[in-house]
Amino acid sequence: MRDYPIEKTRDIGIIAHIDAGKTTVTERVLFYTGVSHKIGEVHEGEAIMDWMEQERERGITITAAATTCFWKSTRGGEEYRINIIDTPGHVDFTVEVERSLRVLDGGVVVFDGVAGVEPQSETVWRQADKYKVPRICFINKLDRMGASFEFSFKSILERLTPNAVAVSIPVGLEANFSGVIDLMRSKFIKFEGEHGEKLVVEEIPESHRAEAAQWRTKMVEKIAEVDDALAEKFLEGKEISEAELQKTLREATILYKLVPVFCGSALKNKGVQMMLDGVIDYLPSPIELPPVKGNDPKTGGDATRETRDTAPFSALAFKLQTDPYIGQLTYFRIYSGTIKAGSYVLNSSNGEKERVGRIVRMHANHREEVKEMYAGEIGAIVGLKSTRTGDTLSDPENPIVLEKITFPEPVVSLRIEPKTKADQEKMGLALRRLSEEDPTFRIKGDEETLETIISGMGELHLEVIVDRMRREFKVEANVGRPQVAYKETVKNTAEAEGKYIRQSGGRGQYGHVWLRIEPLERGKGFEFENKIRGGVVPQEFIPAVEKGVKEATERGIVAGYPLVDVKVTIYDGSYHEVDSSEAAFKIAGSLALQEGAKRAKPVILEPIMKVEVITPDKFMGDVTGDLNSKRGRIEAINDRLNLKVIDAKVPLSEMFGYVTTLRSISEGRASYTMEFDHYEEVPSNIAELIKEGKK
Ligand code: GDP
Repeated sequence: MRDYPIEKTRDIGIIAHIDAGKTTVTERVLFYTGVSHKIGEVHEGEAIMDWMEQERERGITITAAATTCFWKSTRGGEEYRINIIDTPGHVDFTVEVERSLRVLDGGVVVFDGVAGVEPQSETVWRQADKYKVPRICFINKLDRMGASFEFSFKSILERLTPNAVAVSIPVGLEANFSGVIDLMRSKFIKFEGEHGEKLVVEEIPESHRAEAAQWRTKMVEKIAEVDDALAEKFLEGKEISEAELQKTLREATILYKLVPVFCGSALKNKGVQMMLDGVIDYLPSPIELPPVKGNDPKTGGDATRETRDTAPFSALAFKLQTDPYIGQLTYFRIYSGTIKAGSYVLNSSNGEKERVGRIVRMHANHREEVKEMYAGEIGAIVGLKSTRTGDTLSDPENPIVLEKITFPEPVVSLRIEPKTKADQEKMGLALRRLSEEDPTFRIKGDEETLETIISGMGELHLEVIVDRMRREFKVEANVGRPQVAYKETVKNTAEAEGKYIRQSGGRGQYGHVWLRIEPLERGKGFEFENKIRGGVVPQEFIPAVEKGVKEATERGIVAGYPLVDVKVTIYDGSYHEVDSSEAAFKIAGSLALQEGAKRAKPVILEPIMKVEVITPDKFMGDVTGDLNSKRGRIEAINDRLNLKVIDAKVPLSEMFGYVTTLRSISEGRASYTMEFDHYEEVPSNIAELIKEGKK
């Protein structure tokens, strides 16, 4: 039996730019919701959501884990269950952000009340837009020197959405920040007791009545705009009730037409409870969102699942985590139906049946084993064997494959070498585990040097992986410099012959093929086509040819980087009754590919990053000059408040260490974000450097 009705469930994420205070906010949330009974400051390393040691040290939250807590509105009413899906804040982990956004129904976006909207807040905001995540905002740190609610609110309006609507405002700022005015209720709320846990509701102080009235009018006007009946009332100057306002604001927030903005200071224990009320009041329950869409693997057609307990089971695995005590945890979100411990589900993404060993619900400081879980819930399964991040789990009788989470290709790689023989054995296992957890992290062996090459989304991403390997798996390793994950492709079409014939006594070898190699559109990868007519090369040898070709593309032609975006067609060849073998055809395929690719004008491709730099005007010249010297293309320069925003495309190879460069150019005042954009041919002078291993 369900212990919480679905309408009383919220699956949310707390989303923020690094340092905005997400960890502190989350920690306070867990405290007020009664799960945690001790307030731990981030700098003491006691925050509860920070799972891994190193996260605490870095003070950033890297992996998404889900935590369940309970909240009853400060205005009374029934208790709600809130599942918080942790989202990371660093740009190197945008995939982690995306994967968590995919499974949550609503977000609380936290801002620093001094800085307002920061570059990365924008990146995350746009990602949330992509998944149409309804959200509320929390302007934090109003106790800090230089804090300004007005400035921060304005930066949200100007840079993120004109649909933001303030539902609370602060009384006093910095050291005088004493509480918030709830504009809905027109009350002043103070947070007393040791940890601000005691709410005192008062009339708005005389000194703030005029200001509060102005903000309230703005709020009412904005809410009224989205509803014709309310708009009419507003224009006629009639009273709109609190209930009407709240209902309309709720509907509009769920449709992402309005974004309620709260405020406070997590550190000084002010305002977090109002934001929690907001989660219940304005963010949707799972049932208020459209049915999830997917694909029916039986028919190949579209399929949907209603958010009902009685519908066939469907869920998305969104995170794998290794727990030292109980083993592998697969975090999942149920979209429809129910799941029982001990039953079997189908991993419809790979066709494997999986036994559901145990099901657990994670709380901040303990885990609860449950027998069943229902539509809209979030939990973790212990004991799944072949399920990876992004896979769909479904009822074996009624399979569905939910929309896949798309993961970008890794663009940075480095060589890694175990320090000792003992490390060598453990390293393989550790890397395999980590890559299962994180689809944007890849491992490859270098056949020539026997070294291991790991690749990921950025310098920090790989640094974190190496760190985790050391801490969680106790593997010590030497790592090389981060390298760009170059690729190769061809620009022309060419044909080539591959012959592998050995006939010196005994049984010989005979493989012979003609291949055509042609360029494909960027991002298309590898295609192989068989155009052999009349069995000049028997069908049984074709897969071997393809294998030989594929392996040769992985080794590359120009500088040892994988050859991509090519189509290879086998159209002729010959065979020998006795001497032909798969091995011989495989070699012939490989030889023909190498020869053909050389004739087809092979080139090196490099990842180009989309870079956004935000800088005070006076450093503009230096910043753009530096970007130009990095082969960057400046695409736009815009004004934002009193800053300049520079959009550019820059090759990744020029961006290593940019944090330091930018800091020194701008006296630490400029900031930047970057994300992978596309692969592009490198200029020939750079290609020479790459071939010589100098780049
Ligand atoms: P995260 O990186 O977004 O998880 O941010 P943290 O929660 O780790 O906070 C970053 C820093 O800001 C820490 O030093 C916090 O103590 C501090 N901080 C968080 N919330 C507040 C706040 O409301 N007021 C002030 N003054 N500092 C805060």
